[in-house]
Amino acid sequence: MAILVGLIVFVLKLIAYFLSNSVALLSDALESTINIVASIMMFYALNLASQPEDEDHRYGHQKAENISALVEGILIIIAAILIIEAAVGRLSDPIPLEDINLGLIISLGATSLNGILAWAMMKEARKSRSMALEGDAKHLFSDVVSSAGVVVGLIIAVLTGLYVLDSVIAMVVAVLLIRMGVEVLRKTTRDLMDATCEEEELVIVGVLEKNQDLLEYHDLRTRRSGTTVFMDVHICIDGKKTVSEGQGIVAKVEEELKVVVPGIVPNFRIEDETQCKRYKAEGKN
Ligand SMILES: [Zn+2]
Ligand SMILES: [Zn+2]
Repeated sequence: MAILVGLIVFVLKLIAYFLSNSVALLSDALESTINIVASIMMFYALNLASQPEDEDHRYGHQKAENISALVEGILIIIAAILIIEAAVGRLSDPIPLEDINLGLIISLGATSLNGILAWAMMKEARKSRSMALEGDAKHLFSDVVSSAGVVVGLIIAVLTGLYVLDSVIAMVVAVLLIRMGVEVLRKTTRDLMDATCEEEELVIVGVLEKNQDLLEYHDLRTRRSGTTVFMDVHICIDGKKTVSEGQGIVAKVEEELKVVVPGIVPNFRIEDETQCKRYKAEGKN
């Protein structure tokens, strides 16, 4: 559904560009192209990411989401470079915009269609609590705002006869796109590089600290794959406890962790007090 609306919006914006020959409207159309490619990719990636672990992917397939975001970020930046190239060519030699009125009306129609879609997606995202869908909806909202800005700018250009504004608007759109592309890349490379999940570690530490059975814990590590947090930790318990008791302690901690970090995949190494780093340092051992 989202892909179909995206396609219609894209075709409308392309018609608006060909009618008016405006680079600002071209930049708007290119942005729509990315939306469609990104939507299709995201659809495929989310589908793949939701597949359970299998023989050849024992940690699941969640990184598909990160790879999809990586490609999206690169596409956004390529589109921005194309827009800048087109706009710079026009800057020194602005040409009068043709049939701009019809182009603007078509563009406005496409933008309202996008607005309705963004609103529907936001509602759906709230209901399903999907991060990916919410990100998509927010992205679409920012498109609607920038498209509206393009139309307003072009109306001013036509009224004042300052056709150079067309190139200027296109470049502003390109700069906004680059900013967005860099942000998408920054976020997804963090996860691809197995960066620490700082927010989650705060609550994980809270759970570990308050557990009376743990003498201490150390070597806590977290990383994120798609939306899943993976975690490793060493926990020290009283060496005189039985294996079954140790297992019970781990099960309890695991349960508590899953409450504060939904979907977390924790991995524990049980050690006795001789492995305690803090106890050793304090000379208690
Ligand atoms: Zn697989
Ligand atoms: Zn250890």
